[in-house]
Amino acid sequence: VAVDAALLAGVLMRTGEQPHASDVVNYAPFTLLPSAVPRALFEQAYAVQQDFNLLVDTISQNKEFLEQTLASTIKVDDFTARLFQIYMQVLEEGLAQTVFLGINRSDYMFDCGLDGTAALRQIEINTIAASFGGLTSRTADVHRLVLKVLGKTEEASHLLPNNPAKGLALGIAKAWELYGSQRAVVMFLVEEVQRNIFDQRCVENELWNRNIRVIRRRFRDVFEQGSLDASRRLYMDGQEVAVVYYREGYVPQNYDQQNWEARLLLERSRAVKCPDIATQLAGTKKVQQELSRPGTLEKLLPGHPEAVARIRATFAGLYSLDEGEEGDRIAATAIADPDRFVLKPQREGGGNNLYGEELRQVLEKIKDSPERTSYILMDKIKPQPALNYLLRAHSPLRASECISELGIFGVYVRQGQELVLNQAPGHLLRTKATEHADGGVAAGVAVLDTPYLV
Ligand code: ADP
Ligand code: MG
Repeated sequence: VAVDAALLAGVLMRTGEQPHASDVVNYAPFTLLPSAVPRALFEQAYAVQQDFNLLVDTISQNKEFLEQTLASTIKVDDFTARLFQIYMQVLEEGLAQTVFLGINRSDYMFDCGLDGTAALRQIEINTIAASFGGLTSRTADVHRLVLKVLGKTEEASHLLPNNPAKGLALGIAKAWELYGSQRAVVMFLVEEVQRNIFDQRCVENELWNRNIRVIRRRFRDVFEQGSLDASRRLYMDGQEVAVVYYREGYVPQNYDQQNWEARLLLERSRAVKCPDIATQLAGTKKVQQELSRPGTLEKLLPGHPEAVARIRATFAGLYSLDEGEEGDRIAATAIADPDRFVLKPQREGGGNNLYGEELRQVLEKIKDSPERTSYILMDKIKPQPALNYLLRAHSPLRASECISELGIFGVYVRQGQELVLNQAPGHLLRTKATEHADGGVAAGVAVLDTPYLV
């Protein structure tokens, strides 16, 4: 019943076997049952989202902060260095872009304290290609039906409506409108392999509903067909592009030399990039770690003491591995007690972090080399597991010990210096078996879920 409901509701993905086909598809993995989420923490996560939007947008305009924070990282991490190089190049030329659009997702886990109380802890904020705002707007319907079939009609009525895709499209539409050209299109910048296309289509179709034209192109297409006119308006196949919405471009594998050139062309253009390169850099793990330093938030957001307090309350312990005494000390602590920490490189997309024995070995190896600087350390969050069933096509069904990660979507639009839209349009709950330390839905580890507030 659950699988039929998921297929009917459009909780879909292309298959691993035929990743380019839309005529052979299957359901995206999901939990049989919704998972319990403490209401107070859920509300706390929503309440801080506009603050995070403001913070990310502020950082994206602070060249000095980005330069200082990433100085050590770009010496050793080629990918971040490359992004940073484009950032400096577009600043030098002068920005043609005047309207800015941010779509992000701030992810949290519920850390279980010694006394059993749970605390909201931010895992990271994704400032580029934050996904599942589409499919997640359909999972609550599936879980509602499952609860009813189980005779839990009252419980079914408690599941919240949730439609981030609509809110994200509203932000894109606002940016498109402020760009100010009726004929211009929105371009989704997509991967070569688009298994998660239906998630993107949810946002795309909301734009078509508003009579905004959408095209889907890859970096390769931009390299071959993209051009700028004298006032740096972006054209693709003769159509003017108002907004570029990246659903790719966040990992080194997305780029060859031509794709880097395409990225530079897009960044130089007047089109609204979601995100612009500065906002992508604001979402690096290194920036996240620097934000946790005492005084940094206060400096970035003067005059917003309440926002600062709300943001800081979600931080876990984060530690710099830069060369020097501070880094030496925390590296030694983590080698002695690796289960307390997670070691994170400057990468996105899941499956990159190191834990336990592997963390110890890697850190032991790099502790006296500059390579150490390309990582950060973070306190490991330990949530209370709960039993659930993970439904995945072609996989046997069994009960697993699971933990969940809550994401809150953020969307904002700035025109010049004025934030004209700042919202938290919805949420995403992803759940995974505790045997996996890392990995998202796309990586085949986590599955879509719905919060049941308790
Ligand atoms: P990515 O950019 O690759 O998604 P994340 O920081 O989100 O990197 O980490 C990936 C996954 O690793 C998370 O979804 C979570 O399951 C796990 N993880 C990350 N940080 C922590 C942490 N501090 N404690 C426990 N698990 C973590
Ligand atoms: Mg993540």
